This record gives sequence, structure tokens and C-alpha cells, in this order.
Amino acid sequence: MPKSNSVTKDDDRQMLLVKWKDGTTSEIAWKTLRDNCPCAECAELHGPADPLRLKLAPNTSLIEINYVGNYAVQPRWADGHSAGLFTWNYLRDLAGIMPAPQ
Ligand SMILES: [Zn+2]
Repeated sequence: MPKSNSVTKDDDRQMLLVKWKDGTTSEIAWKTLRDNCPCAECAELHGPADPLRLKLAPNTSLIEINYVGNYAVQPRWADGHSAGLFTWNYLRDLAGIMPAPQ
């Protein structure tokens, strides 16, 4: 089994593939990632409704995804946004699976 979690991106299907160190894999749509970006700037977008649609829909095209230490990954989007750090447990949450035991 691999020693650490890893991610690869599937450009054709616009999915992030996560290989967990327990040998299982998950797929998370790029749009799901962007919609759930945990940074402060996006938290505002996720906030109160925007009935007049003054806010632009975020770009969901993933350019690259980088590892941050061994605890998180950081996607960079086509519009230049890269402030969001996704911890592995947060990715598990988005993938709909239980957090890894500590
Ligand atoms: Zn963000």
C-alpha cells in the first residue's frame, strides 16, 4: 500500500482522483471542489443568496493541484484563484466517506 495519499486530475472528465493510503480511491468533481473551496474569499460566495447575481460564478477549470506538506492539497484554478487549502479529511468529507482514523 502507498505510504501517503495522492491526487491526480482527469482533464477529460473534470474529476480529481484521490488515492488514499489505505488503498481505496475517490473521485471528486472539479466543480464540487471549487464550490466548497474553504478560503475566506469563497466563503463569502457560499454565503447569503445573491438574487441579483452580482457575483461571477467561479471558474471550475482546474489548472494544477499541489501538495501542501503532507496534510493538504491546493488547487490552482483557471481564473488564478489558489487560496483554498483542502486537507485530506476535508477531501474525504467532500467524497462522502468517513474521516480517516487518526
Ligand atoms: Zn477560494
